[in-house]
Amino acid sequence: MCVKNLFMLDVDGTLVDSCQMDHACFSQAIYDVTGLSVPDDWGSYTNVTDAGIIEELIDSHDLNSEKIVLFREIKRVFKQKLAVAIANHGLSAMPGAVAFINEMRQVPSVELAIATGGWEETARMKLKAAGFNIDGIVFSSCSDAMSRSEVMALAAFRAKQDYGMQFQRRIYFGDGVWDKQATQSLNYEFVAVGDKVEHDVRVNNFVNPRAILGKLGIEEAQRKYA
Ligand SMILES: [Mg+2]
Repeated sequence: MCVKNLFMLDVDGTLVDSCQMDHACFSQAIYDVTGLSVPDDWGSYTNVTDAGIIEELIDSHDLNSEKIVLFREIKRVFKQKLAVAIANHGLSAMPGAVAFINEMRQVPSVELAIATGGWEETARMKLKAAGFNIDGIVFSSCSDAMSRSEVMALAAFRAKQDYGMQFQRRIYFGDGVWDKQATQSLNYEFVAVGDKVEHDVRVNNFVNPRAILGKLGIEEAQRKYA
């Protein structure tokens, strides 16, 4: 039987070069709506997701009575700011990432899932702007769950249901230390993308899909060339 591998991917800083734009729009939206500043060091938050950061900020400033309204309003302003920023500056995929996704669709032993700490709407907006076609790919986000590990576990669950198969390996590609921590809590494998996280399995970018498969001990990329 063919060994099935589930590749789960983060969006910001992993597939899309969006960290700077995303942080700026997100912080500005929170400031515009609440007057509160978001510390730059996202690693200090319990749940490093859009929803998790806002939740913690609301809790720590005793704004719980306005929570639902604040959430809705911050999300609306964030989406608006992001759309304007994308229209003005465009958004790039990380090197090789679009081709990597397209190529992995062709590898019989690999299935794909997106698992992002952003909201679904804005994450899809960023992926589309950067040139990704993610039609038919399992998707989970902080619109589904507050913590990174829940978002990842949900992606794995949906992949099992939607693709109708068991996965021997679940491998998450991410650029943040919080990505690595979440994979450890779930016992998933982790591939660090870029140089922000220390990890033994690391790639600088996605320009060489076969090398990435090789690094993971997945040989099947050869098949289409044979
Ligand atoms: Mg990221």
